[in-house]
Amino acid sequence: MSSASMPAIKSKPVTVSQDIPVSKTLRFWEGLKEGKIYATKCCQCGSLYFPPAADCANCLSTKVEWVELSSEAEIETFTHIVVRPTSFSQRKPYTVAIGKLKEGVKVLAWLTGFKLSQVKVGMKAKLVAKVSSDAELSYEFVPLDKSEG
Ligand SMILES: [Zn+2]
Repeated sequence: MSSASMPAIKSKPVTVSQDIPVSKTLRFWEGLKEGKIYATKCCQCGSLYFPPAADCANCLSTKVEWVELSSEAEIETFTHIVVRPTSFSQRKPYTVAIGKLKEGVKVLAWLTGFKLSQVKVGMKAKLVAKVSSDAELSYEFVPLDKSEG
């Protein structure tokens, strides 16, 4: 029995897929319900992640802790969407902005409660948690003085 010329087949490349346990992001969703916005912070190198990440992309640590964000944001850029994607075709035109929070993380969210003519790069806004009428959890930027409804 010779094994010198054994036929061989190439195996498929092995891909590793990770299941991120719900428990690792549950706190984030629970927080939104309570009106709080959480980011994750790496216990090892201090990197801040928003949306929260279960692992640190910077130092690969899996030890992260939850930190509540201050909600104070400065608008860095925004865009007004007139031609909506089909999933939003029932909605009015809306504005999407990127705001930099005091903690340094950048957040992409809808900007509501402003007249489009008021929206300026560098203006302050507040990041708030939002529960929509169909119980969908999200977050958006609103004017600073608009704390309730
Ligand atoms: Zn880290």
